[in-house]
Amino acid sequence: MAKICEVCGKSTTFIDEINIDGIVMHNYCVNTFEKESDKYVKKPIETTKKRQQTDKEYQQLDKEINDKNVHVISFDMPFVDMVKFMVKWAIASIPAFIILTIIGAIIVAIFGSLFF
Ligand SMILES: [Zn+2]
Repeated sequence: MAKICEVCGKSTTFIDEINIDGIVMHNYCVNTFEKESDKYVKKPIETTKKRQQTDKEYQQLDKEINDKNVHVISFDMPFVDMVKFMVKWAIASIPAFIILTIIGAIIVAIFGSLFF
């Protein structure tokens, strides 16, 4: 895949070729490209910054997922979805209460037989 690097004008190989926003260049030409990106495309700074922003967000998300420590600050849910969610929640709580009742009955049976 001998493409031409748009930064230095030499041909690339598949080892050092990199494609940023559709522009082919050497991986060691990326720094030059990002410094003088006006030369090579119309709006590269915006897209490059956006890409970096997105990368940062993904890294942040990865970190939060790895920490298993996501802090929910707020969430917005449409009313109808909220109703569905709460109904589902209420139905799901029935087996949960049955399990808790069984556990409670076992505990009461054990301690009841010990002390009374
Ligand atoms: Zn190059």
